[in-house]
Amino acid sequence: PTPLPSDLEIASAATLRPVAEVASDLGVAPEHVEPYGRDVAKIDLAAAANEPRGKYVVVSAITPTPLGEGKTTTVVGLTQALRRLGSNAVATLRQPSMGPTFGIKGGAAGGGYSQVVPMERLNLHLTGDFHAITAAHNLLAAAVDNHLHFGNELDLDLRNITWRRVMDVNDRSLRNIVVGMGARADGLVRETGFDITAASEVMVLMTLATSYQDLRARLGRIVVGYTGEGKPVSAEDLGVAGAMAVILRDALKPNLLQTLEGGPALVHCGPFGNIATGTSSVVADQIALSHADLVVTEAGFGADMGAERFFNVKCRVGGLEPDAAVIVTTVRALKVHSGRYDIKAGRPLPESLLAENPDEVRAGLDNLRAHIEIVRAFGVSPVVAINAFPQDHDSEHEVIRELAAEMGVRCAVTRHVAEGGAGAEDLAREVLAAAEEPAAFIPTYALEDSLTDKIEAIATQVYGADGVDYAPAAARALATYENAGFGELPVVIAKTHLSISSDPSLMGAPTGWRLPVREVRANVGAGYVYAIAGDMRTMPGLSRHPNAERIELSADGTITGLS
Ligand code: ADP
Ligand code: MG
Repeated sequence: PTPLPSDLEIASAATLRPVAEVASDLGVAPEHVEPYGRDVAKIDLAAAANEPRGKYVVVSAITPTPLGEGKTTTVVGLTQALRRLGSNAVATLRQPSMGPTFGIKGGAAGGGYSQVVPMERLNLHLTGDFHAITAAHNLLAAAVDNHLHFGNELDLDLRNITWRRVMDVNDRSLRNIVVGMGARADGLVRETGFDITAASEVMVLMTLATSYQDLRARLGRIVVGYTGEGKPVSAEDLGVAGAMAVILRDALKPNLLQTLEGGPALVHCGPFGNIATGTSSVVADQIALSHADLVVTEAGFGADMGAERFFNVKCRVGGLEPDAAVIVTTVRALKVHSGRYDIKAGRPLPESLLAENPDEVRAGLDNLRAHIEIVRAFGVSPVVAINAFPQDHDSEHEVIRELAAEMGVRCAVTRHVAEGGAGAEDLAREVLAAAEEPAAFIPTYALEDSLTDKIEAIATQVYGADGVDYAPAAARALATYENAGFGELPVVIAKTHLSISSDPSLMGAPTGWRLPVREVRANVGAGYVYAIAGDMRTMPGLSRHPNAERIELSADGTITGLS
């Protein structure tokens, strides 16, 4: 097969439609469209006022491998295909963080002929939302240190301040820092650190806020630390939640961009998938659902993590009813799930992985089967999307189709990366049919259940664990949160995304294991408690030779090297 041009080459060659036309096709009234330059617009929150009328489809995947399974490309390709079939479809996606763009290579706007454009603006700054989130977050951090400087009237325990600072650059040397050095007037000396903006509680809070009023209320509830007696101290107590809301006013409006085929794509917020929900915003989806026939959105990682949080947290908070879930799978990833390969990101693929070998695909099918069952348990119709790579063999696709047929699940091969929307029409037809089936959304737990019951329910019913083991500190934190009145929040489990279990080396569908919860924290403002069952990096480092060394600006202003 002839190799495709690079993502940036394809994106740069695209002729973009005026963004006002894209908005008008979606059905958004001109008074709700605020142009940001020629190719991007923000959509006013008032545009969500219509009754939701669209079907709601989430794109998830089997357990990720370092090869990249293609959820984002599938969201874009599927949306393009749906529009070709006459459905007024819209994609809703997260905004990529700049930090990783300069770190590891990899486009975050789809790939091949299924991308969101303008690609450079999407990957760099866009409309400045991440800068606003960074500023709002750091204003609160400044308020904390200012409060300490002026006498600590709220009695914040210096050893129990949980609010750190953020920025959108991968910089390992800021993970742990000392602030306040210098003279007396330079503040109180204490240890703290930086996380990447995508890991900010404000980022995920923005995705879950349903209105300005709700945004303001959630910001006020952010807990920055605890008093000597263990009483939570909030952003409201520090008096800056209103100012934070003001900084975030424009950032709460979703950004309208377009697919390579000129259809609408709403890009909004980008919370981390590990400690946060890993989904784009509720407001973007509400706006989308009130205009489109069908909304296609992405949930990060595999269905055990992304779809679980999408259903149990995002849909519940936003009052959103999912109609279907696409599970993206690839031949190569299923071969890796056979357990016969040890793949590392950035290394060349072993030749044997690309050779025709349907038995090896079959050996990895347990993973796909588990994700199909996870989606079904939510009462939502799954559709298996076989994201075809040029080196795949028909016999290998056939093995996947057989499993889908055996389980009574819709399935289609999709070739949107190489062919654009035309390559995803079979998938689009399956998705349209699945979305028409009656859905009866069933969350994994009730919000009134105790925090331990919720964690247990996810571990055993979604991940297939035998049970949960809590470290003493985790058990203490859970008791504290129940007492502080945070018990009715939903939970997020921060574990590896590389296995359905908490052990990244276990492929397929692991059984006979228990989930070890080391620590529990609360993002009270965003509105969830998270249990940590693995190593969680909230400030990535750069590699020895990061992508930043390959990105360049030409004399005429052309950008090169962006994936
Ligand atoms: P995810 O959202 O699951 O992380 P992406 O859609 O971002 O995955 O795709 C990951 C990478 O793999 C991208 O660089 C994309 O261009 C590439 N990719 C995905 N699907 C294909 C395909 N069918 N053929 C070639 N490259 C692909
Ligand atoms: Mg993605």
